[in-house]
Amino acid sequence: MSTKYVYFFGAGKADGKGTMKDLLGGKGAGLAEMTNAGVPVPPGFTITTDVCRYYYANKQRLPKELEAQQKAALDKLQKTLGKGLGDPKNPLLVSVRSGAKFSMPGMMDTILNLGINDVVVDGLAELTHNERFAWDAYRRFIQMYGNVVEGIEKNEFEHILEGQKNKRGVKQDVELNVADLKEIVVHYKKLFEKHVGQPFPQDPLKQLEGARNAVFKSWNNTRAITYRRLNKISDDLGTAVNVQAMVFGNMGNDSGTGVGFTRNPSTGTKEFYGEYLTNAQGEDVVAGIRTPKPIVELHNDMPAVYKQLREITSKLEKHYRDVQDFEFTVEKNKLFMLQTRTGKRTAQSAVKIAVDMVKEKLITKEEALMRLEPEAIDQLLHPVIDPKANLKVIAKGLPASPGAATGKAVFDADTAAERGKGGEAVILIRQETNPDDIHGMDAAKGILTARGGMTSHAAVVARGMGKSCVAGCESIRVSEEQKQFSINGTTVKENEWITIDGSTGRVILGQVPLIEPEISGEFGIFMSWADKVRKLKVRANADIPRDAKVAMQFGAEGIGLCRTEHMFFAEDRLPFMQEMIVATDVEARKKALAKLLPFQKEDFKGLFKEMKGYAVTIRTIDPPLHEFLPKTREDAEVLSRKINVSTDKIMQAAEELHEFNPMLGHRGCRLGITYPEITEMQAKAIISAACELAKEGIKVVPEIMIPLVGNIKELQDQKAIVVRVADETIQEYGVKLSYMVGTMIEVPRGALTADEIATEAEFFSFGTNDLTQMTLGFSRDDAGKFIKVYLEKKIFKEDPFQTLDQAGVGQLMEMAVQKGRKTRKGMKMGICGEHGGDPASVKFCHRIGLNYVSCSPYRVPIARLAAAQAVIEGKSKGHAYTSK
Ligand code: ADP
Ligand code: MG
Ligand code: MG
Repeated sequence: MSTKYVYFFGAGKADGKGTMKDLLGGKGAGLAEMTNAGVPVPPGFTITTDVCRYYYANKQRLPKELEAQQKAALDKLQKTLGKGLGDPKNPLLVSVRSGAKFSMPGMMDTILNLGINDVVVDGLAELTHNERFAWDAYRRFIQMYGNVVEGIEKNEFEHILEGQKNKRGVKQDVELNVADLKEIVVHYKKLFEKHVGQPFPQDPLKQLEGARNAVFKSWNNTRAITYRRLNKISDDLGTAVNVQAMVFGNMGNDSGTGVGFTRNPSTGTKEFYGEYLTNAQGEDVVAGIRTPKPIVELHNDMPAVYKQLREITSKLEKHYRDVQDFEFTVEKNKLFMLQTRTGKRTAQSAVKIAVDMVKEKLITKEEALMRLEPEAIDQLLHPVIDPKANLKVIAKGLPASPGAATGKAVFDADTAAERGKGGEAVILIRQETNPDDIHGMDAAKGILTARGGMTSHAAVVARGMGKSCVAGCESIRVSEEQKQFSINGTTVKENEWITIDGSTGRVILGQVPLIEPEISGEFGIFMSWADKVRKLKVRANADIPRDAKVAMQFGAEGIGLCRTEHMFFAEDRLPFMQEMIVATDVEARKKALAKLLPFQKEDFKGLFKEMKGYAVTIRTIDPPLHEFLPKTREDAEVLSRKINVSTDKIMQAAEELHEFNPMLGHRGCRLGITYPEITEMQAKAIISAACELAKEGIKVVPEIMIPLVGNIKELQDQKAIVVRVADETIQEYGVKLSYMVGTMIEVPRGALTADEIATEAEFFSFGTNDLTQMTLGFSRDDAGKFIKVYLEKKIFKEDPFQTLDQAGVGQLMEMAVQKGRKTRKGMKMGICGEHGGDPASVKFCHRIGLNYVSCSPYRVPIARLAAAQAVIEGKSKGHAYTSK
């Protein structure tokens, strides 16, 4: 048996079916499925994606069996319709349509009206009693064929068409008469011959061959290749070719063509949604040649057709159990369906549709949870511009960090910080930002820059803060001195209101009403389903009460990582920290630490209060100390006056702390081991804070975590200090308090000896940022230079600092989980690296049996959904997981 390359569909029966998307493409599978379901679809046949793959594997030759199979299908098509390709008395016209497994809208090519030539055009005119229609179809065919098959620029044809319209003094295509169209065809054919060196092909079989091959070729046009890369679609899927009998929407006012959705794809509302044009063909609707009418008006124009269309599309939605995006054509009051596929939608509508469909008993809750990419939730967590607002858009930049913000324009960071902290809404506008602007960015509602790309300082920092940012808005001229920016004659001065939309890049003049994000309504219901399903707990990484509060609003169930050193960077504590670092003896160091203690204690109290009894994991100091010291002599002088230590001494300390490779230097538990008094102070601050709250009757669960442990003895050393100080403190306060001491697993040796470490550690938290650095031997801060190339050369499929390297780093994690729990049954384990908010990594954490993931507050809902999906996927795959 030779391979079946051609699948027929028509007369109520198709060779293929809806599940055969790999072989027939999405369009072909949809046409087959609709045909089998009795939906009116013009008959035709699909040439499989196998042929496309063969074509590319064999120097653009086709399998030899194809010709015979194609001829048989064409004969069957002619017989079904009683028409013949090229028969002037009763001509069959076909469309030749591309269609891959995944829809790639507009990326590949389609040719309509194939089969017309100089003789057929007259036959068509006679048969339809519509000479204008016949000639219009012919000129469209030459245009599409010339463009798609021979690569003649579209605007060369448009030029001729426009010329004719001008000559006749008309505006619309439909106003051209038969004589005009005939003239246009003459010019089109001349253009064709000039380009190709041969006259326009008159043999319909030749036309078919040319069109079919061109569709296969279009799989590898630049547009299609780029689209696949952006959407992570594999290059070797190939496209199918659908040859389908034409139906005509351009036969008069009882004809038309349109596209639609069974529900509103931007809001999700259950309403019939779409557009159509009367007396038009195929692409006219999308091409914007005339403004289409909303589909509800079809109800008045063609009531019977409208009713039938509603019936068919409702049936299709029920059948596919998802929103359908469909194409239809009406030929002389008769409805034909030309395409149906799953409708693309915004995150907001995806949630609404999923929840509605569960209520309608169309899908289960678990299916609903699989209908949204976890990443897409990000779109729902930021303020948006009220869709009812009237907008005066003045410029457009890069949508660098999602969400909208409205406020008064300010042009320097100090002003932004001052006024922002005072409670005013300000937008910080800069040529570009730099690290000195942080305080201003932090206090502003949003950031607008004229320069820089999606990974510029402004963009990266704003995303980290979950703050709206429009970057690289090149068209505005910012003058930081004059405190104003201008664009196209409009000048915006300091204190004038502006609004930015970081999701679209729009810059809008004036104050605009915003809608705050909330996990409520359908979104709330959806997330509650995810929470019921998931096994993993989701915590947040948060250092200050404000972040903890956001995390709680987004559903965090604890803090998985509080980086204490972030508290030391605050203006009112930094000098004491510095005093501690430059201290030359233990006494001086202890004195400085004593000054820091009350600050730390208050910080922890704030955090504990905010977390309302959920566990809070606090890491003892981690970064190398030089990070806290002034970089320049000037700054050292300022510090010298504050702490009463000579500038020279400060500079000397900074020099001594210099390291060749700080990432592998004096940091983590190595600091606490060399300066035990730091660990003492931190333990004291944590436990006193907890005790004071316990006295007030507030429940607190502190988990103290020692970083960078690779050797059991390191942990023993630090744990002994923590336990001693903690027990003393608890006694002092005379309260009951339980606490835990655990460690981070982030040094490969720590993972390898996890069974030993678990004898001391009461919990593990995987620090996958460091574990990735040390397993791969890449410094994260330097990897930017080569990771891009690694990705391009496909050495890495994904950036290992964004999504966990499951085969390498993941293996160490899995080993540590098993070894740790062998020593300590049911040991609590989590992850606190950036990966804790990456959906693929969250799913991996579920599979290796972690208890929780911890991520930045804004990613908490994303992790909640990913954790639920991990459970659902596990059920269907029987928990088998693959390392990438
Ligand atoms: P795309 O995938 O870019 O949407 P299509 O193959 O769906 O391309 O076709 C482009 C346009 O031509 C669509 O509007 C479609 O409905 C129309 N069309 C395709 N085949 C036919 C046909 N046999 N009869 C009438 N219109 C058709
Ligand atoms: Mg289409
Ligand atoms: Mg670390």
